[in-house]
Amino acid sequence: MKNQNIPYKIYLSEDEMPKYWYNVRADMVNKPAPLLNPATMKPMSFDDLRPVFCDELIEQELDDTTKLIPIPDDIRNFYKMYRPSPLVRAYCLEEKLQTPAKIYYKFEGNNTSGSHKLNSAIAQAYYAKNQGLKGVTTETGAGQWGTALSMACAYLGLDCIVYMVKVSYEQKPFRREVMRTYGASVTPSPSDTTEVGRKILAEHPGTTGSLGCAISEAVECATTHPGYRYVLGSVLNQVLLHQSIIGLEAKTALDKYGVKPDIIIGCAGGGSNLGGLISPFMGEKLRGEADYRFIAVEPASCPSFTRGKFAYDYCDTGMVCPLAKMYTLGSGFIPSANHAGGLRYHGMSPVLSQLYHDGLMEAVAVEQTAVFEAAEQFARVEGILPAPESSHAIRVAIDEALRCRETGEEKTILFGLTGTGYFDMTAYEKYNNGEMTDYIPSDEDLEKGFAGLPVQPE
Ligand SMILES: *Cc1c(COP(=O)(O)O)cnc(C)c1O
Repeated sequence: MKNQNIPYKIYLSEDEMPKYWYNVRADMVNKPAPLLNPATMKPMSFDDLRPVFCDELIEQELDDTTKLIPIPDDIRNFYKMYRPSPLVRAYCLEEKLQTPAKIYYKFEGNNTSGSHKLNSAIAQAYYAKNQGLKGVTTETGAGQWGTALSMACAYLGLDCIVYMVKVSYEQKPFRREVMRTYGASVTPSPSDTTEVGRKILAEHPGTTGSLGCAISEAVECATTHPGYRYVLGSVLNQVLLHQSIIGLEAKTALDKYGVKPDIIIGCAGGGSNLGGLISPFMGEKLRGEADYRFIAVEPASCPSFTRGKFAYDYCDTGMVCPLAKMYTLGSGFIPSANHAGGLRYHGMSPVLSQLYHDGLMEAVAVEQTAVFEAAEQFARVEGILPAPESSHAIRVAIDEALRCRETGEEKTILFGLTGTGYFDMTAYEKYNNGEMTDYIPSDEDLEKGFAGLPVQPE
């Protein structure tokens, strides 16, 4: 029998919920490279960023030194509607796998938006409101971010304009309607409502859009409408900062029971949930206080870490955004139509990119069919029907647990379960019908993306 002293679910009280976000950049020796102004190739200053982002969020974006940033009371109060989120000991999965490993997951799908994205959505909407703005603009791919942001905006009485990648707009009408119910206006991208959208439509008639393209439209919309700013659901330093609440809660809960994870695993699209989950643990590693293995999991169809280049690149297709130094497949790279919409971005968080580059973190790429096998196995024993994105982390957590079965090692594994998959039933249907395919880009496919990288600064 396993040690049953640890409950199936470790809940924290509201008082135990963190009062500060933790900024891992403060403990990094090699800081993430600054965003560059594409016109001058000089680091973006506060003033350069003001037309695009809210002031307070720019402060957070540029702050590489403040370790702890207080969470405003209004945001904490909103968090209390669905946080602290449970940390679950996956006894049933362990039993099923017959592994000596101990598996924990931090479940971020227990809010109406269904994913961790609400943690940053409410923060960004709050700062916009505080600045007296009328509204915010954004893009959404699969729709999780747009859903989270429209919820946060509804709560605060802010206008919310969402550019939704056209293929998702058409294939995920329910997501779209959730956003509209929360009061957001949702436009399929590319659209004729922006200059950059009209240009892309003229060059690629019939295109079903991409995240990079929707970002360009949302940024243009913000900068041409007084009282609006643009917000982004991943990649940026500020988003990782807000998501640190995931890792801080997980660490507090594990510390309560004297549990120290050996391996920490998360899926990586733009890197926000993974960055948030690992931040406090990575801080300990950076300060030499403890050691952990960190594993980023990405789809084999969009392998930014494992096959991308560490270079300055455009964040969007229209090249209206600053350049970021990150692991990237090139802003023109369009991944094949895999079902993990949240993991289809061409780039990666500059913070995680630097940590990976410095050998502080590992990355693996996994194929879609294997991911859904893991999702099914997990759903059948743990009950939760996971999002396809989250299931990438489940796949690797299971693989590590099976390795422990071979070696007899009693490793402790922690992974991030970022959301539920109820809006992804088309993907599950494909899997259940045996119609799911795995597409891995060839080296030539990737070369096309790399060819579009900008000339690198000296
Ligand atoms: C958006 C999303 C992701 C990927 O985004 P990150 O910024 O890499 O965390 C993962 N899981 C879910 C459920 C998402 O909605």
